[in-house]
Amino acid sequence: MSDSAFGVYVHIPFCAQRCDYCAFVTYTDAEDLEQRYVDAVITELGRATGTGTPPATSAFFGGGTPSHLPIEMLVEILGALDLAPSAEVTVEMNPEDVSADRLEAMVAAGVTRVSIGIQSTASHVLASLGRTHRGEAVRDLCAVVAASGLETWSMDLIAGAAGETDDDLLTTLVDVLDHDDAPPHVSAYLLTVERGTPLSRDTSRHPDEEVLAHRYELLDAELAGRGYGWYEVSNWARPGHDCQHNQLYWDGGDYLGVGAAAHGHRSGLRSWNVANLTAYLEAIESGGTAQAGCEVVAGEQRTFESVALRLRTRRGVPTSWIEPPLDLEGLLELEDDRWVLTLRGRLLADAVLARLVVSSGAVEASR
Ligand code: SF4
Repeated sequence: MSDSAFGVYVHIPFCAQRCDYCAFVTYTDAEDLEQRYVDAVITELGRATGTGTPPATSAFFGGGTPSHLPIEMLVEILGALDLAPSAEVTVEMNPEDVSADRLEAMVAAGVTRVSIGIQSTASHVLASLGRTHRGEAVRDLCAVVAASGLETWSMDLIAGAAGETDDDLLTTLVDVLDHDDAPPHVSAYLLTVERGTPLSRDTSRHPDEEVLAHRYELLDAELAGRGYGWYEVSNWARPGHDCQHNQLYWDGGDYLGVGAAAHGHRSGLRSWNVANLTAYLEAIESGGTAQAGCEVVAGEQRTFESVALRLRTRRGVPTSWIEPPLDLEGLLELEDDRWVLTLRGRLLADAVLARLVVSSGAVEASR
């Protein structure tokens, strides 16, 4: 990460329909509030710019579904960003929102990267996840994105849904990757059960740990075999296509969070906005701040977080930061002066981190 790297995260809390596994802050019945929300986000961005915030080297529109916003509104927010030259600007999209016209408008407004949540191309897997889009048109969708002029882009997958087989996952990878218009970046997540979601209440759809581990190994082997290298536990890319904005997070860098529920981090101070849409609008419109809280991330907590974030990346953790105990053999390997998770270690990343903490002072001063 360069010293001048600075990110902006913009949260767009609107979706067409809530997926069964989703615990994000998002609304499916608030379209009448979208223009007010866009105005509030622009106001919040403007206030930050007035307080010495540097131009952003990366911006990321997440949600929710940023592509659910009418394109003119998305373009309005893009126009309010203070971007550094060659900034990476990513917008998350749902497949049903992808069209040549929309992508053309986004590219013209400064978007350099899209991340499309395809999840799977098997209709019964999508149904099991509570997704409403269809998977079979993925190659056409890839062709539209490839023709848009975007320099790079990603597809998001989810593995481990109830009813998914190895063949479903392998077929999804063939559909997404085995053609000339394949995305150069893939994010692939193992299904997790979040509290309060429809999925959490339906135990018959809960994923099996062994199946998840097996699917992860399949994913990694299939992606590696096609030239996609892992650079974070859930992210693979062809050379030169890593997401700079996410790298900023993993490096513990500084970024501004704008919108309901958005988090920011500046020089060891983490802050977060109110998560409720109406409360956010009222706070900004009344001239106040939407900030709900903040905390100083320093000392042992900062060290722990730095190790936790770096551990999940291909860059690994410098040997000067940790001294892994012997029982982590096979889960971490030494590469030059860094400890890097092995494939098995990636499957057990949380347990590896917990073991490092317990065996500490193993997690020692890092910066
Ligand atoms: S589209 Fe994304 S943010 Fe919206 S409900 Fe589904 S998983 Fe959640």
